[in-house]
Amino acid sequence: MEQKSPVELRCALIGHPVAHSRSPLIHRLFAEQFSLPLRYDLLDVEGPAFNAAVQQFFATGGLGLNVTVPHKMAAFALADQTTARAATAGAVNTLREDQGRLVADNTDGAGLVRDLTANHGIELGASRILILGAGGAVRGCLGPILETGPALVRIANRTAARARQLATDFTRLGTVEGCGYDDLETATSPFDLVIHATSAGLTGETPKFNRRCVAASTFCYDMFYARGDTAFLRWCREAGARRLAAGWGMLVEQAAESFEFWHGRRPETGSVIARLLSA
Ligand code: NDP
Repeated sequence: MEQKSPVELRCALIGHPVAHSRSPLIHRLFAEQFSLPLRYDLLDVEGPAFNAAVQQFFATGGLGLNVTVPHKMAAFALADQTTARAATAGAVNTLREDQGRLVADNTDGAGLVRDLTANHGIELGASRILILGAGGAVRGCLGPILETGPALVRIANRTAARARQLATDFTRLGTVEGCGYDDLETATSPFDLVIHATSAGLTGETPKFNRRCVAASTFCYDMFYARGDTAFLRWCREAGARRLAAGWGMLVEQAAESFEFWHGRRPETGSVIARLLSA
């Protein structure tokens, strides 16, 4: 008797560029945990074609989209309905369709907080946090970080005005301040956690800032991930930091949130992080 093949569940990452993405591997490893017949594609789509590409994807039976640079704001504008955390961020990295309506989420912040707290054992409540960078990733993460109740979140950015504006946008959620790197010169005590979230890592660079912000007890976290130490982690090590991590865990945890948003099941992440680190 002819065996019927199971219906393929089609998901994809849409952005530009996307060729480097580890998302197909991560989602394949998640799907294997539940024996789901998943297909995960990479859709390299530039600005003007974004809306039409999303509509085409869902019109042809697609189940879920991840959205990356430069489309996270456009995805927010296109959505019919957003989760509370996507509304807070004003940016979207996960889409699905529900009875013809485009429903959107932002899983970056939850992924970061889960990696810091569950995988690295960092206590965020009452802590002093320094974030370097004020782009889309920081906007996506600020809400979930402030929800954990830190004593202070200071955002430092090359363009100080952008950091100040971001802080103003989130001030209702907690104590958050924006500044330029020069303003950190007056800092006299180290932060508990320093998160690097600029795109300088892509060219092997890192923002330089007052070394007194970092001590052996400071946890230094690079959202950017690479084989071995990133430029930011090297700089922190030289400044005296001893507790360091790159953003592999965030990548997997935000993917797990997206997977649950689409499939209603929570995948196990530890083995997937280990697989990426050993690949
Ligand atoms: P954006 O393009 O939105 O923002 C870029 C930020 O980097 C801005 O604050 C910009 O400052 C700053 N910047 C760029 N070049 C330099 C430089 N040479 N020196 C100092 N600052 C610089 O990017 P995203 O916020 O989307 O992404 C930031 C990083 O986070 C990327 O490396 C990305 O790969 C990583 N990321 C990792 C994730 C993970 O799962 N691990 C998830 C999402 C992002 P200015 O405002 O002055 O231009």
